[in-house]
Amino acid sequence: MINTEIDNLYREIILDHYRNPRNSGKPECFTAEASGNNPSCGDDVTIYLATNKELITDIHFQCSGCAISLASASIMTQAIKSKRLEDVLIMSKAVQCILTGTENFNQNEILKETDIIALTGVKHFPMRIKCATLAWHALDQAIFNALQG
Ligand code: ZN
Repeated sequence: MINTEIDNLYREIILDHYRNPRNSGKPECFTAEASGNNPSCGDDVTIYLATNKELITDIHFQCSGCAISLASASIMTQAIKSKRLEDVLIMSKAVQCILTGTENFNQNEILKETDIIALTGVKHFPMRIKCATLAWHALDQAIFNALQG
């Protein structure tokens, strides 16, 4: 594919998550939560985790912000559901490295089969990187809170 086609594909995936966010809204039951905000863009996100021992059994988010921050949160919830807390922390670190341009997506086995690749274009737009990493920072904090129990 030529670059424009890839850009269009990524844009479509982001717009799809923005228009039809997955796992959006505050759930009735959750075991840990964490919020984050990105003042430079005005994005706010809260992550709600339901955990059973080492496993993330459910995840929801609430987000008011730009398309990138909302799509990133939606993509994140899809990518980590039913995974182990420990594995998700490793995944989150990898995603943040990829979004800031310090790691290559194609070399990262654990992120295959996710829509996360659609977010990788932000590394070319320094102003938008914090929009894309916001949900993942909040996720780290929510996992930390869950582990504190
Ligand atoms: Zn934003």
